[in-house]
Amino acid sequence: MVSAREAAASVVDPEIRVITIDELGILRAVEEDSTTGRVTVTITPTYTGCPAMDVIRTDIRRALAVAGHLDAEVRTVYSPPWSTDWISESGRAKLVAAGIAPPAPVPTAGVVPLTLAVRCPQCGSPETEQVSRFGSTACKALWRCRSCSEPFDHLKAL
Ligand SMILES: [Zn+2]
Repeated sequence: MVSAREAAASVVDPEIRVITIDELGILRAVEEDSTTGRVTVTITPTYTGCPAMDVIRTDIRRALAVAGHLDAEVRTVYSPPWSTDWISESGRAKLVAAGIAPPAPVPTAGVVPLTLAVRCPQCGSPETEQVSRFGSTACKALWRCRSCSEPFDHLKAL
């Protein structure tokens, strides 16, 4: 039997389909009561304005049911707030592979200028510019590479 943790972690983000909610850092905890078998999943929403959380909740319940965990509750916690720093290394690699520039780690103490942040996922060039603050979803901005002139989505840093 697939564990509740594995089942919940396998759920894919409905907006960025290449990455799981575990890799995205949305999945905070999966607890299973050893007596009753009841599963409690805790998630933290990403960007406000992303209407994906209802879909994610439904997908988690479905994945748990398929794995045999029929008694499940999905809780949402807002504190601490989700940050793009919670995206795992493997998640970042998958974003690049899908042509989405991952958000840069939030600079500490403001040392790193934000203009260094976005690299072209096609050729790796840092010579990029923002075309539009809004890409294919509210979470993404549309950027273009000045080296290879390819447009790409950039997941906004939070
Ligand atoms: Zn490029």
